[in-house]
Amino acid sequence: MFLTEFTMKINENYVLQKNYIFTEISKKMLDFKAKYPTRKIYNLGIGDVTRPMDKRLVDKIKKALDEQIHSRTFKGYPPETGYDFLKTAIAKKYALRGIKLDLDEIFISNGAGCDVTNILNLFSDVTAVIANPTYPAYLDSNNLRGNNCILLPLTKKNQYKMLPNTLSENQNYLIYICSPNNPTGATLNYDDLLSWVNFANRTKSIILFDNAYESFIEDKSPKSIFEVKNAKYCAIEISSFSKSAGFTNLRCSYTIIPKTLTRQNIKINKMWLRHQCTFFNGVPYHIQKGAFFTLTDEGQRICQKNINYYKKNLKILKNCLKKNNFEFLSSNNSPYVWVKIPISKSSWEYFDFLLYTYGIVCVPGSGFGESGEGYIRLSAFAKRCDIISATKLLPWV
Ligand code: PLP
Repeated sequence: MFLTEFTMKINENYVLQKNYIFTEISKKMLDFKAKYPTRKIYNLGIGDVTRPMDKRLVDKIKKALDEQIHSRTFKGYPPETGYDFLKTAIAKKYALRGIKLDLDEIFISNGAGCDVTNILNLFSDVTAVIANPTYPAYLDSNNLRGNNCILLPLTKKNQYKMLPNTLSENQNYLIYICSPNNPTGATLNYDDLLSWVNFANRTKSIILFDNAYESFIEDKSPKSIFEVKNAKYCAIEISSFSKSAGFTNLRCSYTIIPKTLTRQNIKINKMWLRHQCTFFNGVPYHIQKGAFFTLTDEGQRICQKNINYYKKNLKILKNCLKKNNFEFLSSNNSPYVWVKIPISKSSWEYFDFLLYTYGIVCVPGSGFGESGEGYIRLSAFAKRCDIISATKLLPWV
């Protein structure tokens, strides 16, 4: 006989949450393949990179891994916050933008996704400010903890920009800013970001700035929140090699927490150090060596080649959508196109329609939040052949 009062109490937020959107999409694709095994799928939904890695980059990683063979160069646990050689290269990249960073303000990690969600471990009684639509991890991580969330709609009327003007100044918030934005592609300019930094400093809020797509920025929009005056008193930056260098499988990212960021007289930087030493054992040496190589001149040229490929995809996609009178957010700073559904269907209905009529996969806008209803997200990370095949099937109505 088991006594119920001794049952482990679970976090019921996990039961109440809907499934992760990309799991739902994968399920639908599997159903489609089971029903129509011979039909082709053109995957424009994928937010993952598709270009293979350059051999020179892989060779650097292999060479670093070979160091484990010899006792002279063998390495055990990596430092929890990353090797200095990688941090120094990151600090140099920021110095070129006029941002001075100490090495202990940089924390190497194995994914922006982990850091942007785990950072919640540092705070209690959080009220999160999140865009709607949003990159799902921001909202999911807060919902799974039962945090209070304020969702700010991104609409055509506000040019899909999240700004602080509707928020009360009588409290503080954890503010999630993703620029260039996933899923809309909208980018905040200097003045937009300055208004957030001023707001955060006035209200003692903290900005989580996710710049996973900064390498796609073509205009003068800030690539780092620390380009903005006084951001070092209110912001944390979360950055990744995933999309800039094709590291989605290898896993490497970094988080910057300035030592000037304090709350209740405690340095958030020191708290994160404590967090990472307890919860994380660091990124493998050879992966950090690979990430380091991507920051060299040669590595940057290699990464830029892949980014240019995705940008060409974007151009092909947008030109074809334009010719077919689609309404979409036109940003050259992002790999994503945020498209208004041209017929009277919900996001999921249009997803099914595109999949079953043409074999095209998109991401339904409503999967990113209620304000995404009526939209889909298309990705230029798709393979060129999928982009071309899918655009030949336009007008998708
Ligand atoms: N942040 C945003 C906005 C993303 O779109 C993604 C991945 O798609 C991530 C973070 C996760 O990046 P990583 O692969 O470094 O975990």
